[in-house]
Formats: sequence, C-alpha cells, structure tokens
Amino acid sequence: MNLQALVRNNIWNLVPYSCARNEFKGEASVFLDANENPLNDPYNRYPDPFQDALKQKVSKVKGVDARNIFFGNGSDEPIDLVVRIFCEPRVDNIVAMDPTYGMYQVCADINDVEYRKVLLNDDFSLDAERLLAVTDAHTKLIFLCSPNNPTANVMNQEEVLKVVRNFPGIVILDEAYIDFAEAPGLLSRLTEFPNLIILQTFSKAWGMAAIRLGMAFATEEIIGLFNKVKYPYNINLLTQTFVGESVLKEKAKQETVQMLVGQRAFLKDALLVFPFIKQVYPSDANFLLVKVEDANSLYDYLINRGIVIRNRTKLSLCKNAVRITVGTPEENEALLEALKAYPN
Ligand SMILES: *Cc1c(COP(=O)(O)O)cnc(C)c1O
Repeated sequence: MNLQALVRNNIWNLVPYSCARNEFKGEASVFLDANENPLNDPYNRYPDPFQDALKQKVSKVKGVDARNIFFGNGSDEPIDLVVRIFCEPRVDNIVAMDPTYGMYQVCADINDVEYRKVLLNDDFSLDAERLLAVTDAHTKLIFLCSPNNPTANVMNQEEVLKVVRNFPGIVILDEAYIDFAEAPGLLSRLTEFPNLIILQTFSKAWGMAAIRLGMAFATEEIIGLFNKVKYPYNINLLTQTFVGESVLKEKAKQETVQMLVGQRAFLKDALLVFPFIKQVYPSDANFLLVKVEDANSLYDYLINRGIVIRNRTKLSLCKNAVRITVGTPEENEALLEALKAYPN
C-alpha cells in the first residue's frame, strides 16, 4: 500500500506544532520551558502529549504494540481525524454501510466530503461486494462497524476481510461493542493488514464514557499521521491517570460484561412476551434493536414514565424499531413493568 498516495498533500507535508513537552523529554528538576504556573502540582503541568505510560499499560491489556496505539478524546476524535487526513473536501468520498453509527456521516459532512451509503442486507448482514461496487478512484475510506450500532450484530469476518483485502484505500473497523460479542474481532490480526484501522473505546464495556478515551489501532505510519494532526494535549492528565489505574481492573470489567450479557438474554425473552413487540434482533452488543408495532407511540409512552430509549424508526431498514440499552437488573425490571401497563 502506498500510504502517501492516499493522504492529502497538505497533511503529508504538514509540519506539526512542536510543544515544549515534545522538544524536551529527559529528566530535569526545573521546568521553565512551557510557561506553566509553578504552583498547583500536578495539575499545573501539561500532560504527556503521547501518553506513553498509558500506552504501555493498554498495550499489555490489548496485546498490541504501544507503537500501534493512538488515544483520542473518545473514538469520535480518530473518526474525525481519518476524514481530515485522507479526504480532500469536494473531491474524495467515503463509503459506509447503512444503517450505522451517525458520527461517520457527520464528520464527512463537516469536512464537505461525499458520504456514500450502502444498505445492509435485510438481516443486517454485510455484502462486501455491494460495498466495493460503489467505490471509485476517489474513495479513500470505508467505514465498517461490528458489532454494528444500531443493528447490534457482528459482521461476518470473511465479509469484513473481503473488504479489507480488496479495497485499495483505508478501512476503519469500529469495534466499540466488541467486548459484548462472542466473536473475537480483528485486533489480534491487525499487523496482517496495513490499510486497517480498528477503533475501540473505554465508553462502553469499561463504563467510562464520561472521561472520553477512545483507541485507534493501526500501523505505526498511520498512527504517526494521527499524532501529527491531533491537538497537542488531546488527552488530559485526569483521564490518563484514571484510565491507567482502571485498566488494571480487567476482571471487574469482565464481570460487568458478563452481567450485561446475561441481562441482555433475560431482557430479550421478557420483551418477546408482549404482543406489541414484533421482533427482537440478535445482539452482540449491550443493547437490543427491537421492532415494535408503533415506535413513536411506545417512545412517547415510556418518556412519560421517565424511561428513555432511542427511537430509530427513521433509519434505513429500521422502520418502527427502537434501541434499548441493557441496564442493571433493576432498570430492566422498571422497563418491563412500564411495558406491562402500555395500553395497546
Ligand atoms: C458508542 C460508540 C462509540 C464510542 O464513541 P466514544 O467517542 O468513544 O464515546 C463509537 N462507535 C460506535 C459505533 C458507538 O456506538
């Protein structure tokens, strides 16, 4: 793969901002280089721009070399960065499956980059050939999401690999929900594919959406491009230290995942009892996509009872579908109790 041919010229030639913490990295006792306030330790100092200590820890947990890791302010940051790095506005285009996570199109729209949607099959499975068929010489990126939001299913790995192997541009595989799936995902095979970027996040299985930490895994060359374009101090000190401690509690995270996967099965069965629930789709994530008789009416009814779900009826293939996040046993019971009283 010729990476330079895929990257926008201005980005390839960009001289990145060089911050004080880049220029000096060794040991010292007096820091008078960054115009920081000398008081209020440790919050007075700019944080590590490349989060080396945290990368070492996450590298062990994920089994990925630290040089292949990028941290963003949520996964949303690398999603925006790939568009800005690879896509020339009004010239290049992006191909993505439909329906899927809304941020891909928002980032494309913000950057004035054409976004081409390709419908999933009726059972929400991926058709690699249909996706590849709409690509052209100006297609720089393909976004795949597995398990997919909002359809909840993992994409067949052979179909995903067909896209990765046959597309001459960059494939972004969003694995935000992979911890809830039985299928392993592609992270362990990252090094086989120089055009693959895998996204994961601390927002879902790790339960840390508030501290905003997303991960992108890719070749060292692509990580270098992310580092060039990102804001110098994109991950604040509180997030770096907090995640550095939390990431050691992998067992607790695993237990939470087990609990939610158990609740997912319970909730699915319990929902199917109601006559106004037409279908509960198979889920590899921490939510259920549910086809109901009247999504708008059900949504309004639950809101009035203080229960918020997501109405997805306007998305492709999702007419009268709602997305329900799996909560605690108590929250799920509260939902079921409310549904028992739904006048239908
Ligand atoms: C929730 C979600 C994310 C996570 O985004 P963050 O910015 O890391 O919180 C990423 N991708 C998909 C598909 C999601 O549903």
